[in-house]
Amino acid sequence: MDVRAQISMVFHLDKCIGCHTCSVACKNIWTDRKGAEYQWWNNVETKPGTGYPGKWEDQDVYKGGWTRNGNGRIELKGAGKQKGLANIFHNPALPTIDDYYEPFTYDYLNLIEAPAGDDQPTARPISLITGEPMDVKMGPNWDDDLSGTPDYARNDPNLENLTPAERDAMFQLERMAFFYLPRICNHCLNPACVASCPSGAIYKRGEDGIVLINQKVCRAWRMCVTACPYKKSYYNWHTGKSEKCILCFPRMEAGYAPACMHSCVGRIRYIGVLLYDADRIEAAASADENDLVARQLDILMDPFDETVIAAAKANGIPDSTIKAAQDSPTYKFVKEWGMALPLHPEFRTLPMLFYVPPLLPVMASVTPSDGAQKEKLNTIAKRWEENRLYDTSTEELWGAIEQARFPLKYMASLFGAGDTTAVALRLKRLMAVRLYRRWKTVGDIAEEKMKQALAETGLTQESAEGIFYLTALAKFNDRFVIPPAHREQAIEMLEFTGDVKGSVGFGFRERPERGL
Ligand code: SF4
Ligand code: SF4
Repeated sequence: MDVRAQISMVFHLDKCIGCHTCSVACKNIWTDRKGAEYQWWNNVETKPGTGYPGKWEDQDVYKGGWTRNGNGRIELKGAGKQKGLANIFHNPALPTIDDYYEPFTYDYLNLIEAPAGDDQPTARPISLITGEPMDVKMGPNWDDDLSGTPDYARNDPNLENLTPAERDAMFQLERMAFFYLPRICNHCLNPACVASCPSGAIYKRGEDGIVLINQKVCRAWRMCVTACPYKKSYYNWHTGKSEKCILCFPRMEAGYAPACMHSCVGRIRYIGVLLYDADRIEAAASADENDLVARQLDILMDPFDETVIAAAKANGIPDSTIKAAQDSPTYKFVKEWGMALPLHPEFRTLPMLFYVPPLLPVMASVTPSDGAQKEKLNTIAKRWEENRLYDTSTEELWGAIEQARFPLKYMASLFGAGDTTAVALRLKRLMAVRLYRRWKTVGDIAEEKMKQALAETGLTQESAEGIFYLTALAKFNDRFVIPPAHREQAIEMLEFTGDVKGSVGFGFRERPERGL
């Protein structure tokens, strides 16, 4: 057993309101520099949709992540020594600027200096690449809320396994639904970006697992851009270096939450320490596709187990980090309650950002109040025109999940490597907690039904209460449990990177330059 500590994240998708505050907070701190215009280390996508860069999930095009070969071992799909050498002068598996978008600014001066005339002066968009006026065809979050066109949703790569009938059902106008998927670098346990770098510039920090790019060692091979299946490594054309989300490590070292998490309006984000067994990474990453999620969760260790604590201490993990792992909200969501899943586990990078899949408003439906429904009509029941009733007490407990507007197959393509059982269980648990709270606060759910729901999903009233608290009421210190850095471990932290803000953002102590 080789116990190590990893900072991990949970995003609760039912709570994301798509406000993009997280993206803007990150943009203003880290990537408001020349060469980084198009980089969104945090972005929020509308699902179903094509995302950013366009269709990033389609690895037939981008060749990111790992594949399992004939002998059961994994290899990089589009990078590595041989593939890198073969494509040394031209790497065909890179997103182009059109897949991101051509960065632009506006001719603001025209608003002030335009000669007097009959028209209102406008600020025309100007390309930040050519300096010429341009027609904006794409931009950050261009497909937000489907941008008024069905083209984005219909081109979602996750629809591949859905039958035409299922797709049609999903896209019927009155049934069309979407949810938001905020994305940052997953700080994976088996990061393809690290494995692909010919210069060895990318590394995973020992003390907290944050994946970073050394700007002095980077030689612009851009193999990390190809290898990261989530497309969260970017090339800066100005400095000639690659850059990526650094999980706000200067803030984390001081015990503060990353800016995107701190500013999140929906409070969907949780951060905490997970202890894992590094000896089992290879086996977990090369597991059978159906087994990937279970094997990934298996390598996360119980921070209360005495043998795990002893092994962690033997590996030099400080007591404060072990305590943080015990209080970790991510451990609760991911392991204890089994509520969250990794995004696209089939890419085999063992991402350490987990998502609570969105249940969406499937708890109740508005049905005609005849037949059995008639009996429920009383003075306090909510009635719509034509005597329709807001029905919460479904005959079949899980009927609403099976008839959800998002077919389970779609959710499984995102969070379960195609396996619907893992996703269904998480959704049922979400539903069970709602039924429990409904029983407790409104009282129109029978106690036996509530108990049955909890029992069938492996929850208790106590755990349901815990889930409700962490989902709805949790305070800042419940959502972010971050052990501050131990300075004796990393002496370079003694320099405060905030002192150099203004040169190249918040965090580089030395300006990265071409030709280093
Ligand atoms: S998400 Fe991509 S960039 Fe981040 S650690 Fe994983 S492979 Fe690397
Ligand atoms: S700030 Fe929070 S709620 Fe708003 S889009 Fe980002 S993740 Fe969603």
